[in-house]
Amino acid sequence: MQDTSLYRAWAEVDTGAMRHNLSVVRRVLPEHKQMAIVKAEAYGHGLEGVVKALDGCDIEFFGVATVGEAARVRDAGCRTCPFILGPCFPAEREAIVQNGWRAALSSLEEAEHFNSLGRLFDCKVKLHISIDTGMGRAGLLPGDIPGLAEKLRSYEHLNIEGAFSHLSAAADDISFTHRQIRSYERALAVLSEQLVLPYRHLCSSSGVFNYRAAGTNMVRLGRILYGYSPMPSPYNRELRNTLTLYSRVTLLRTLPDNHGVSYNHTYITTGPTKVATIGIGFGDGYLHYLSNTGARVYLNGSYCPVLGRVTMDQIMVDVSHLDGVRPGDVAEIMGPNVPWEELTTRARTIPSNVITCISGRVPRVYID
Ligand SMILES: *Cc1c(COP(=O)(O)O)cnc(C)c1O
Repeated sequence: MQDTSLYRAWAEVDTGAMRHNLSVVRRVLPEHKQMAIVKAEAYGHGLEGVVKALDGCDIEFFGVATVGEAARVRDAGCRTCPFILGPCFPAEREAIVQNGWRAALSSLEEAEHFNSLGRLFDCKVKLHISIDTGMGRAGLLPGDIPGLAEKLRSYEHLNIEGAFSHLSAAADDISFTHRQIRSYERALAVLSEQLVLPYRHLCSSSGVFNYRAAGTNMVRLGRILYGYSPMPSPYNRELRNTLTLYSRVTLLRTLPDNHGVSYNHTYITTGPTKVATIGIGFGDGYLHYLSNTGARVYLNGSYCPVLGRVTMDQIMVDVSHLDGVRPGDVAEIMGPNVPWEELTTRARTIPSNVITCISGRVPRVYID
């Protein structure tokens, strides 16, 4: 294992836990294939480390946001094909065609351009039709689909391999979600009259345990793969934590009564206070929004409150109740004892935001 003794902050990534989470979904949905979403550094877990660990797991696609991420999947030596989830610039399409990556189709202009690139490079470009059933972000509107399927079939250098949509409020608005599901099912029925679609996918993490759409055969797994299910489900208990963020005490001092701590003195000691300085800050992804919210770290078996504002590289925590804390001691910043939901609530954001903020300065250490 990697030597972490000189790291101020690092993220331990458990790829075995990821495979376990994948197996939970496979048990619940044995007939569905999976796309593993690895965009944004695999939700902060580190893109290369994650795709290498998952490449041999019979996953159909690695979902990415950009052509740059797709190239990194390729350069990591993966056999699993990258799937670019959102729209691409015209200048990015040549790389998609030449590498055989999958792209989402939102318009006829894109289809025509991809078709001409397919002609140029003498290949069939595999695309998935994106259907906007309510997300309002990308895709064809369901009303435009009926006239379109035949047209798409006529492109000689396209292979329309799939059709998908994305739920916009699966965890919050069940009746709207059911309307999206019906809309997707109808679009799928219309498309299937003209096209053979081997991949049909709608649900991501907020849908997999709670909704079923007729005709689908693949799910897209982001958060659930990383141990966080956004909706209540009996299966949630089975998911394992995949990332633990650690940092070290860099300095230990006792500050006198009435001494300000950190910028603007939003915290002032109310007596002699044993303060540990810890080597993590918002430059590492420990959000500034956690300042003065009751945020805490887990150090030597107990919780220590963060005092005052989070700074770029350091935080200060109260260790007055602890004996024997020393520079070099390891604090858990996020993980089994400090769940990312806790940080999410305190920072008033969403879990994916907390986890994708872990910055490039933080080494990822992989365990399996
Ligand atoms: C990011 C993304 C996902 C993954 O969502 P999770 O809720 O994290 O599972 C799935 N599908 C699309 C289109 C996405 O952009």
